[in-house]
Amino acid sequence: SSRLLYKTGIAVIGAGQAGLSSAYYLKKQGLEVGRDFIVLDQSPYPGGAWQYRWPSLTLSTVNRIHDLPGLSFSDTVSGNSPEVQANIAVPHYFEVYEQTFGLTVYRPVKVTVVCERDGRFRMETDRGFFSAQGIINATGTWETPYIPAYPGAELFGGIQLHTKDYQAADTFIGKHVVIVGGGISAIQLLDEISQVTTTTWVTRKEPSFRSGPFGEEAGRAAVAMVEDRVRKGLPPGSVVSVTGLPVTPAIEAMKARGVLNRQPMFSEITAHGVRWPNGREVAADIILWCTGFRSSLDHLMPLMLREENGGIVMGGRLATMVAKDPRIHLVGYGPSASTIGANRAGRAAATELMDYLGLRSAGK
Ligand code: FAD
Repeated sequence: SSRLLYKTGIAVIGAGQAGLSSAYYLKKQGLEVGRDFIVLDQSPYPGGAWQYRWPSLTLSTVNRIHDLPGLSFSDTVSGNSPEVQANIAVPHYFEVYEQTFGLTVYRPVKVTVVCERDGRFRMETDRGFFSAQGIINATGTWETPYIPAYPGAELFGGIQLHTKDYQAADTFIGKHVVIVGGGISAIQLLDEISQVTTTTWVTRKEPSFRSGPFGEEAGRAAVAMVEDRVRKGLPPGSVVSVTGLPVTPAIEAMKARGVLNRQPMFSEITAHGVRWPNGREVAADIILWCTGFRSSLDHLMPLMLREENGGIVMGGRLATMVAKDPRIHLVGYGPSASTIGANRAGRAAATELMDYLGLRSAGK
């Protein structure tokens, strides 16, 4: 659409953990929401990607949801049952958060293309266009599920799904499900599905289980590794993938049930299932790819931020600043792709961008 809806200083794209944290600090540092900065989100409700997660993901099965700045999550959860659904409790938290700090979010507004126009950014959306001096991009990964390519995928007569599509194990009763992936989501879905039907679990690498909690030091090392990658302009890799799998009671029970029987990756998909290099074939009705996500950055394509290898060279205190163009910050990308990382990165991005654009010296 060619209608100009808003001209503003900073546009925050996305209102998940990363976008809300950024908005909080923009406001705290003196900018007025709806005038000096705006927040856009394509989803219908508060909650970021949490509103789409499967109902059996509860506060006892998530890793840990870090508080947003200024308001504690637990203060917004009614009752203290660990069985509270994450896809209800987190959206509720974000809704209360937005109201508490007066962070108006324009939704649903989907940013389709961002390009440069007369030294400003023009953001095309499904509602009209917006114009801003700077951008904090916080669009997460949920819209960009990753499925690796395997020969024969187009021949498969069954159904291929991704973690993103999962709602409940019951829908798989009576079907044989091949589950691909060695991360936390793969294990959790394997656990649920293997309780109602037969499964085959395949992973590229032998999954690494760790006993005991994941130490703070190991967490810092994992984040530092990803930060180092993005400062060099390499594709980030996943912060969560390097933390290993905790041996929980659920995993002990899976071992006892014999479902943690990991197979190496198949080499080919056939009309009826999957096949390994030695010719062994397993018939399957469903292939469930729990193979992760990539950053949702397609709308930034015209800005040509990517290197040939697909990475983006990042700078700034917490590596949120696009080195090529300091008017653009990516929060929730690379080292800040966790609830705690997104939180801290929002502050760094807000501060650095306001300084760079001189939005502080204007008497605010
Ligand atoms: P999101 O929550 O995805 O928010 C992005 C927002 O941007 C969305 O609201 C979306 O509507 C909007 N958006 C996207 N594209 C556009 C567009 N083009 N225009 C307008 N709006 C757009 N991390 C933890 O720290 N602890 C956990 O326990 C944990 N559990 C997880 C469980 C699962 C199953 C998954 C997949 C991830 C989990 N993570 C966890 C990772 C975690 O979700 C993220 O690190 C964090 O919540 C991401 O926040 P975000 O703001 O970057 O993204």
